[in-house]
Parts: sequence; C-alpha cells; structure tokens
Amino acid sequence: MLNLPSDYMSAETRAEIQAELDVNRALLRSQGKLEPVKSGIVTFDWPLAAASWLDDPGVHGISNFVDQDPAFPNQLLDYNCGARSYDLSNGYNHRGIDFFTWPYGWKRMDEFGVEIVAIADGTILSKFDGNDDRSCGFGGGSWNAVYVEHSDGSIAWYGHMKNGSTTSKAIGESVVAGEYLGIVGSSGSSTGPHLHLEVYDGQGQLIEPYAGACNVMNASSWWTQQRAYYDSALNRLEIASAPPDFPACPQAETSHERRVFSTAETMYYIAFYRDQLAGQNTNYKLYRPDNSVLYDWLHSSPEPHYAASYWYWFWDLAGQPTGTWTWEATYQGQTEQRQFELVAPGNGDNDGFMDHLDNCMTVANPSQLDSNGDGYGNACDADINDDGIVNFADLNQLKLAMFSAVGDANWNPAADFDGSGTINFVDLLTMKTQFFGAPGPSAYAPL
Ligand SMILES: [Zn+2]
Repeated sequence: MLNLPSDYMSAETRAEIQAELDVNRALLRSQGKLEPVKSGIVTFDWPLAAASWLDDPGVHGISNFVDQDPAFPNQLLDYNCGARSYDLSNGYNHRGIDFFTWPYGWKRMDEFGVEIVAIADGTILSKFDGNDDRSCGFGGGSWNAVYVEHSDGSIAWYGHMKNGSTTSKAIGESVVAGEYLGIVGSSGSSTGPHLHLEVYDGQGQLIEPYAGACNVMNASSWWTQQRAYYDSALNRLEIASAPPDFPACPQAETSHERRVFSTAETMYYIAFYRDQLAGQNTNYKLYRPDNSVLYDWLHSSPEPHYAASYWYWFWDLAGQPTGTWTWEATYQGQTEQRQFELVAPGNGDNDGFMDHLDNCMTVANPSQLDSNGDGYGNACDADINDDGIVNFADLNQLKLAMFSAVGDANWNPAADFDGSGTINFVDLLTMKTQFFGAPGPSAYAPL
C-alpha cells in the first residue's frame, strides 16, 4: 500500500512557536482583541471539508493519533490502546492527529480540493504561509499553519497547509467553527499531504481530542460527536479507463475517470475506502439502463486493517444496451452510486476522413460538448483547438467542416436533427452521415 503521511517538528521549533503564541496572546489581550478565558466546555467539530465541487462522500483517512507512550523508539500507544501512532529514535512522540487526503492527496492539493476548517469558534493567534508545500520527508523546513485560541483558552494548531492557501484573515480576527482556514498540503517536515492537528487545553497541556481507555492526557472526548476508532467508510467510487496512477512523491496522482464509455471499451470500476477491516463485505451491483442487474457480487479485504485502500474490477460491456448505467456499492450501511453513459462506438477507422469526430464519437456523450465531463478540452471534446473551452473558434471549425462543402456559409438551425435545442454529437453524427456519406477530397476540412 501507499505510505501514510507522518511528520516531525523538533522540540526547539515547537518551543519557538509556543513562545510566539504566548507573545501574541498577551498582545491581543492587551489590545482587547482576545476575550479573557472563560470557563465552560468547548467541543470540536470535524476539521476537514470537501471543496464544493468535489462530490466524493469521503476525502480523508487517519494515519496517526497522539502517541500516549513517552518511551521510544517504537513504543506506541494511541488513545484506544492500539498503535496507530509513531515515535522517532530522537525522542519525538507524535503530538497530534494526522488526517491525510484520500484518495489523490497531491492532486487534491493542486486543485484546492480538501479544506481545513476551524474545529471551534476562536481567535487567530498566529499563522504562517509562504513555505513550500511539496515536502516528501522530514527536514522539509517550516510549515504553513494557522493557530486558533478558543474561548476556554485551548489552542488548536493546524499544520502542513498548501502554500498560499491560509485564510486571508489576520492575527487577532475571529473565526467560527467550520470556517475555512486553509488547504491540506505537505509543507514543513511532512511525508505527504495531510493535516496535523495538535491541541492544547487551557492550561497549555497537550490533549488527544479522542477519549479512550489509554488516553492518559484527558478523560473525556473533546469532539462534539466522537467518531469510531475505525471510521470505516467508502470515500469514493470511480469509473475510469484505467486504474489510477500514484507516481513518486510529490508528483500529482492521475485519475483516468470518465463518465462516458463506448461498448468497445474496457472500463475500470474502482472503490476507495478508509479504515477497511477484514470481514467487512461490500455488495457491488451493476445496473443496466432499465435497472435490471447485470452483475451482483460481494468482496471483502483480507487485510486486518487498511487506513486507506482501493480495489478495482474491469470489463467491457460489449453487446449490452446503451444508455445510463449505474454502479452501486453498499458497505457498512453506506450506499454510493456512480452513473455512466454507455454509447455505441463510432467507426474510429482513422481513414483520414472526419477522424476527429469518428474517434470522439467512440466516447462522446451525445448530451454535452464536453464529452468526458472533465470540464476541460481534450482530443475527444468539441474543444477542437484544446484551449480549455468550447468556444466559437471550435464551432467555426465544426461549421467549416460540416457546411462549407455543401455551400452553406451560415449555421443552419435545421442541423438540430434530434430537436434537442442544441447542436450536439448526435446531430453531428447525423450531419456527417447526411453530408459526408463517403470520403471525398473536397468534402471536408480536417479538424
Ligand atoms: Zn502529525
């Protein structure tokens, strides 16, 4: 499996940060920007949120909790009496919770996909930004971080943020629970994109927000709703033309996700999990457009515990009906679905005649110009000039290809053959057949 992110901070660096927080705290108090510490209970909401465009049901896993055992090395004890933590031979015992992005840590960082949000209302005590965010190991220099003091005097450290992503709010400004603080990254001594959340109580003592039998730091949970130690869930379903690529750190991963396939293609069905345990079944089903079930199968992981895992199957659907198909997975009471369009293959004959459309029609979604739904142009989009948008330049090329040969210099509304109100690939296919039934040297302009 993949290496799970971890991190390091020297005692000296930690002391420097604490000294600065002390200075800022006193200064903000003197300026009236920080309320006196109140008694009472502050509880924590979840520190991560998916960007609004990202519809994955889950975006993280947990690689490490606070190490409760001060001995080292390899003397590990997490709050639940397990060993999901780490220490180092130099005496560092992990002092926070590591929430890593899963799947696609680097890709998600690059696309601002996973946000770090405030776990409670508070005041920004300090923040750092401007440091490189593609660290792959320890010794990676300073991190980008935001530090927030809550009304009870407890302080949360949010570390390893993406360069340039920290909140635009200034030191001394207040934030509310759930408010954006930054993007998960890998700045500082970090082996991959993750949030290191480190929390001190009102007396300055390190705590582990999770309550459990082996938590020697605090008896009760600081979470508003504490999640299970093994928080097993489906993070993402993906249908793709190939399995994902996980290149060497810190290169971004590649997803080959598509939502449109032809009956001539092989498609990969990929499920990403967090905290998958042996014996947990997933029930997968593949539904035809008429909702009848083509495949129905069970799978469980043989591994006692994966903090992050993914599994895939692949086959083609030759001879199956075209239309909207649904892939479904049910795991631990959670049901997720992904839909895709199955279309008839274009001729894809590469005969030099309208090959762009031939090949695009092997994958094109008849309902939209951005045929693979990725939001960007590529060889199989109507974005013929690949400038990232489908614009009039592309339409002009299509028009030239489709109409110049028959002497029609103007766009013809009659080209909306299927009456959908737009000129789409179905229309283009009809046009091609109608106007260019056979290759001819003067019949078209190459796209
Ligand atoms: Zn950490």
